[in-house]
Amino acid sequence: MSTLPIITLPAQASSSDGCEGTSTGSLEVATLNSDDLAAAASGDSASDVVKTQAGTALSPDEQGAPGQRDHNGKLYIETVGCQMNMLDSELVVAALRREGYELTSQPDDADTILFNTCSVREHAEHKIYSALGRLKHARKQRPQQVIGVMGCMAQKDQSLIFDRAPHVDIVVGTGQMAEIPGLIKNARKDRERALAVSLDRKAGTRREVSASFQSYDPLREPEMRPSPYQAFVRIMFGCDKFCTYCVVPMTRGPEQSRLPSEILAEVAHLAGQGVKEVTLLGQTVNSYKCVENGKTWRLSDLLAAMHETPGMLRFKFVTSYPRDMTDDLLMALRDLPKCSHYIHVPLQHGCDDVLSRMKRGYTTAHYREMHQRIKEYLPHSAVSSDFIVGFCGETEESHQKSLEAIREYRFKNSFIFKYSERPGTKAQSLFRDDIPDDVKKRRNQELLELQNEISEEDNAAFIGREVEVLVEGPSKNAIKKADSSLKEQLTGRTRCDRIVVFDGNPRLAGSLAQVVVHDVTPTTLVGSILTREVQHGSSSLLPILV
Ligand code: SAM
Ligand code: SF4
Repeated sequence: MSTLPIITLPAQASSSDGCEGTSTGSLEVATLNSDDLAAAASGDSASDVVKTQAGTALSPDEQGAPGQRDHNGKLYIETVGCQMNMLDSELVVAALRREGYELTSQPDDADTILFNTCSVREHAEHKIYSALGRLKHARKQRPQQVIGVMGCMAQKDQSLIFDRAPHVDIVVGTGQMAEIPGLIKNARKDRERALAVSLDRKAGTRREVSASFQSYDPLREPEMRPSPYQAFVRIMFGCDKFCTYCVVPMTRGPEQSRLPSEILAEVAHLAGQGVKEVTLLGQTVNSYKCVENGKTWRLSDLLAAMHETPGMLRFKFVTSYPRDMTDDLLMALRDLPKCSHYIHVPLQHGCDDVLSRMKRGYTTAHYREMHQRIKEYLPHSAVSSDFIVGFCGETEESHQKSLEAIREYRFKNSFIFKYSERPGTKAQSLFRDDIPDDVKKRRNQELLELQNEISEEDNAAFIGREVEVLVEGPSKNAIKKADSSLKEQLTGRTRCDRIVVFDGNPRLAGSLAQVVVHDVTPTTLVGSILTREVQHGSSSLLPILV
């Protein structure tokens, strides 16, 4: 397996003017091209490429007792983007905690600051560069501080991040998360900046590039999860679809499916930690395919095998790709009672011309056929979508077709994005980003309003009905109020992923409860608990105290 190049660069001199966005003057910032990276990956490193001993774990002893350390052990981490990023942050925090770090919610308190970044839209990157800008002066007062940028923006912008924010110490791509503890330690000790990224997609053979996006999923950190009862499990890395607007195939590398044995072991481990619901992650999660010990595993096989895990109550998966919605998967969802009947399968646009320019690989007719099959196998399932408005060449007429699609499919919800041109994508080289921002905003608003109307109408059909809810814990409102009363507002989700709020005992978190719905909003069902449990030796259903 090819090893990854870790490039160390001289740290920013504290006397530097540190001008944002300008070059670092006398500093030798290595410009990494594909040849450097390929050479380093094949072990034939160029002379200006320094490979470090990154990734060697520090024991708490090496890390030093709090009084002996050269830093305060406090870690601040900010995560932008999707569930993949949330999971990556969880894994990085787990690794750092093992080395004695503790989390803080205040960047001012922390001697170690990490940004886990997203490159899908330009706006997400601006937010990170602004946050980095705000740290520039504080960093000068804190010589022991280490600032790191990790994730998609790190893989995409690489040493440009040092140019734009010279006070950043480490830049770590999506495939090098396991190196972070060692890189932080070295950066603090040697005051050398380090860049650890994977190969560009064209910088080696598929095998070399894939190997440079290392798997990093064994560690888990319950505190970083949305709730102690829910966890993400990555079953695939990367993407090979190359939709023309999207940077993900570049920032997350080639599509790779993880071994089923590893995934099942991780699910069992999570069940042992008390997790009740697992969400399987992949950019095109239903394209999962892996051969192990001569057997070919697809997503349906994985679901059937993990369904046997004692203690687990529910399984979901995101994000699905329309062309890979096979019958075996829909049958598995129909036949396995722990599987959520919720499918996030983005249409992206309602017009065939736009879908073709997006190179999505399907037409609206394909999507319709897939949607019909979902409803045949799972009549009560909920389907949700993503849409992009204002993609290159989108006419008023084609925009109307996205509105019609929302009416036709009555999605449970849709995530709607204004097109953001991304460097390095096919759309950037082939098409002009020709839709003015005010038009994008209006079209975004139109889709959103229609989707909200439909969501509220469809939610209203639940009024008076009893739904089974996997209770997640106190609702956001209850957390804000920090009310210590026994009964508080709880939140959970139905089997088709509708959010439900109701008053109840927080002890119900992590269990299934029956709730009767009496009011709705576009996003939420509001109900009262009817939880009953079966008394052993009797068929009667008893109410439990709530
Ligand atoms: N793999 C998933 C799929 O194909 O549906 C989506 C992953 S992407 C991180 C999440 C969503 O961001 C996409 O579904 C798309 O709607 C949106 N997106 C991606 N690139 C975008 C861009 N350049 N501008 C605006 N939205 C974008
Ligand atoms: Fe991006 Fe398309 Fe891959 Fe989704 S399927 S991650 S939108 S390239």
